[in-house]
Amino acid sequence: MTDIKGKTAIITGSTSGIGLGIAKAMADNGANIVLNGFGDDTNIKTSCQEIESKGVTCLYNGADMTKPQEIEALISEAHTKFGSIDILVNNAGIQHVSPIDEFPPEKWDAIIAINLVSAFHTIRHSLPHMKKQGWGRVINIASTHGLVASPFKSAYVAAKHGIVGMTKSVALEVAEQGITVNSICPGYVKTPLVENQIADTAKARGITEEEVINDVLLAAQWTKDFVSIEQVAAFALFLCTANASNITGAALAIDGGWTAA
Ligand code: NAD
Repeated sequence: MTDIKGKTAIITGSTSGIGLGIAKAMADNGANIVLNGFGDDTNIKTSCQEIESKGVTCLYNGADMTKPQEIEALISEAHTKFGSIDILVNNAGIQHVSPIDEFPPEKWDAIIAINLVSAFHTIRHSLPHMKKQGWGRVINIASTHGLVASPFKSAYVAAKHGIVGMTKSVALEVAEQGITVNSICPGYVKTPLVENQIADTAKARGITEEEVINDVLLAAQWTKDFVSIEQVAAFALFLCTANASNITGAALAIDGGWTAA
């Protein structure tokens, strides 16, 4: 068991997919959870109840990650409720697949705001608390697309390369203060984010959806297997252990061999 009992973990975009998986895994290990993201009220309530059934407290804050003031209010509400900010997982993200000359500018702006700029705001408001405590973990859920590109994902690739760079810089700033800052770079994980882009990719490339799964998504994943949500969550938990205190500023691939080739 990871020693995060009683610590406060904020996970942005945790009403679905990878973020919800990380929230549940951290709750399993005794952390109080700040859940964030959009979705159906009943589903969010059910997720909170499931988390609290593990014996921890769950606070839901629906801050829109495109709105800096809402992000500031989220961090402040979490600190007021729990008295500390220990673990910050920047996970909220969206995708849009399109050739760049047809890329809707508002989609470009939203991807950069949610996938990159929101992490600047969560980090700048959380770090002062972590510095005071002398302990903190910042985990940025980047992507293989933070390390290499695919066509038709210019905004996403730009945002993910950006967060990998920001991770390195912040890690150096706080290296002597008991705070580590890392990016996890997953390959394809079957979540709504990926399921929603299968049709768009098929259209952009002029192929069938089955061909997208086998010839595009899993083509570069040498294990021929999707990464699981639980595997990403376990990786995030490991980064919170004492054994991970010298892992900082890293872009950590969990991609079935994609970036080895
Ligand atoms: P998902 O669609 O299941 O979850 C995305 C979450 O972000 C949801 O909770 C959603 O409500 C939230 N969100 C979206 N816009 C928001 C906003 N404006 N404000 C607050 N929350 C917002 O997707 P996922 O696959 O679980 O993705 C989570 C993260 O993992 C993303 O950053 C994504 O880029 C990254 N990632 C995913 C994969 C994959 O294959 N699924 C691979 C690598 C990286």
